[in-house]
Amino acid sequence: MSDTIFSKIIRREIPADIVYEDEHLIAFKDISPQAPVHVLFVPKTPIATLNELTADHAALLGQLFLAAAAYAKREGFADDGYRCVINCNSHGGQTVFQLHLHLLAGAPLRGGFA
Ligand code: 5GP
Repeated sequence: MSDTIFSKIIRREIPADIVYEDEHLIAFKDISPQAPVHVLFVPKTPIATLNELTADHAALLGQLFLAAAAYAKREGFADDGYRCVINCNSHGGQTVFQLHLHLLAGAPLRGGFA
């Protein structure tokens, strides 16, 4: 996988508003937020898209969702609710080709898929 802007954030080569980090993943605020809360959870293991996932990544995917849910509880918006999204390739709207989970919250979000 080629280097991405998110790898540069992980290596602290470019700044980001980091809200969580552990040995497996990092989470930081989206530079162009689409909701009052918009945080990206990114595995440190570089995986370009959902299509590259294998069974070996099952635990990592679990950690990704657990970290997002824990963040929602910690920040106090878990009960109001939130949305988790992973975009894949062009029809999915993916623009950064390093797997990441969008966590959106802080207001009622529009329904629908487009
Ligand atoms: P995608 O479209 O690939 O699912 O999501 C990529 C996200 O990364 C977009 O929401 C975009 O705003 C965000 N993004 C792109 N470049 C940067 C950056 O340099 N810093 C941060 N914090 N977010 C970025």
